[in-house]
Amino acid sequence: MSVNNIKRCIKCVLPETFPNISFDDKGVCYFCQEFINSEPIVIEQKRIKELMDSEIEKSRGKGEYDCIVAFSGGKDSTYTLMHLVQNYGLNCLAVTIDNDFISEQAMKNCYAVTEALGVDFLLFKPSSTFMRDMYKTSVVTGGIQSNSAIKRVSAICNSCINLINNYMIKLALLHGAPIVAGGYIGGQLPKNASMINLNLIQREQIKKPLLEKYKSLFGATSTKFFFIHEDLINNYGKSTITIINPMLTVSLSEEEIISAVGKLGWIKPHDTGSNSSNCRLNDLGIAIHHKKHNFHPYEFEVSEQVRYGLMSRDEALRKVTNVPGFSELGYQMEKIGLLSTNI
Ligand SMILES: [Zn+2]
Repeated sequence: MSVNNIKRCIKCVLPETFPNISFDDKGVCYFCQEFINSEPIVIEQKRIKELMDSEIEKSRGKGEYDCIVAFSGGKDSTYTLMHLVQNYGLNCLAVTIDNDFISEQAMKNCYAVTEALGVDFLLFKPSSTFMRDMYKTSVVTGGIQSNSAIKRVSAICNSCINLINNYMIKLALLHGAPIVAGGYIGGQLPKNASMINLNLIQREQIKKPLLEKYKSLFGATSTKFFFIHEDLINNYGKSTITIINPMLTVSLSEEEIISAVGKLGWIKPHDTGSNSSNCRLNDLGIAIHHKKHNFHPYEFEVSEQVRYGLMSRDEALRKVTNVPGFSELGYQMEKIGLLSTNI
């Protein structure tokens, strides 16, 4: 089925191929029907903001840093960092993971932005061999992706996000920082995940049964990337860390975000596809996800942006029907050792 012939919700852009979707007789999807009856966005944002603000006030000045910011160098995490530094006055450590596919311009942005904001910046580059194997395995086997994650993210991104999140928590423990901030926007996270008081002991217990799966997929060394040693938690002295996503408390369109971060010297990269502003591997993840599941991994996110009035339906449609072709992805495929027979 061509991406242009698929039946889509008449309000957002969710397609009939999206898992467990249903439409009413007018062609409105289940999620849009639910949205009409749910808490208005301004009230939802205010509620999340109040929770977040109170957590920030409680946490300020408690560790070497107030907050570890997962800073990819993309527009959303750049805005998040700027917001926390300029509007909250938080002492942040900006952390970038170089996954071997960070655009050169995105890397320049990381340096320019952290310099402009005067914050400490840490760049961590896991072994290229490990990262490339992890990506290839994620494509070939589906990796560690749950059925629910399939709706929101490609298998490639899913593995990477898990690795990044784990590293941020580790750093928070090492530096005694009570908060970890991400740059997720509406639709990228389940609604109840906008702010989480993460119980670290419980997290490790829940993940424990997956240890062997991680080892068999990504090798024995993968445990250091996906798990946290209990000594680190014990030394931290507390059993919880708060995860916040401040973008969920602001209503800004993509253009407004780009314009705001532009003041810090941020420049949009041109080699990262239409859905990423830092990673050159994203398009391969999209192409594979689309081929395998018959919907674009950004469908849910852009549909949520449409519901919130932050993106026009036409723009959303343009994004989800613009599926990158494998012929343009030779560089990425070759770098992770992926053959066309693998996909
Ligand atoms: Zn809809």
